[in-house]
Amino acid sequence: MEVLFLGTGASLGVPMIGCTCEVCTSSDPRDKRLRTSVLISGNGENILIDAGPDFREQMLRHGISGIDAFLITHPHRDHIGGLDDTRAVYYAMGKKPLQFYAEDFTLEGVYKYYDYLFPREGTSDYHGAPGAQWHRIEAGIPFRTEKHEIFPLRAMHGHMPVTGFKTGNLVYLTDVKSVPEQTRREITNNTVLVLGALHRRPHHLHFNLEEALKFVAETKPRRTYLIHMSHWMGKHEALERELPPDVFPAYDGLRIEI
Ligand SMILES: [Zn+2]
Ligand SMILES: [Zn+2]
Repeated sequence: MEVLFLGTGASLGVPMIGCTCEVCTSSDPRDKRLRTSVLISGNGENILIDAGPDFREQMLRHGISGIDAFLITHPHRDHIGGLDDTRAVYYAMGKKPLQFYAEDFTLEGVYKYYDYLFPREGTSDYHGAPGAQWHRIEAGIPFRTEKHEIFPLRAMHGHMPVTGFKTGNLVYLTDVKSVPEQTRREITNNTVLVLGALHRRPHHLHFNLEEALKFVAETKPRRTYLIHMSHWMGKHEALERELPPDVFPAYDGLRIEI
């Protein structure tokens, strides 16, 4: 199984519009972060986690046109802002209905923002609306895509729930501020953890770097890759040097084999 990091940035991306800080003006390509999303490939299946506003750019950049399953973590725009562009995937895949997997609270957000595309009932009359199946999933209850078993995990994004995902020894947790014991137990010394860490100051909805490292120290995964970083995290190169062994900042375009 391969994980391709399509985007590793926070909601406003890096560089941020109008910012002239050393990170936003860095020439290191690893300091250019599209909004957070990963592609998991294995057994001939492509699974995408989240389709944010950079979805189109991410598909084009990596020449991806087939997504067999879309897993959505929560209905914030930086995670669902690219859903309209999934129309192109629908065409590219010969109008085979797209398969989406999300919990109820996410689905409610999708119905609200994308009522023209994915109506609560019936089918859309919007030009080119994709055929789509939204599968309701629930944290703690495993489900199957065509080729993978996936275990959705509960985590909290402040007061709002957020869905994490486990498949094989990969655990994916983005936009988390607290992680219940039940979910922590899914992380073992064989786990490759992909974890959101926003920046260095405290934030009411996200782990900062200190909280993320504390979580890693407590749960002891084999390796950890940090995602969903803002420019306040500093330059990639400096961050990489200061992190403990087995914790790495992810960057756009990074591929890891699991
Ligand atoms: Zn986010
Ligand atoms: Zn969020």
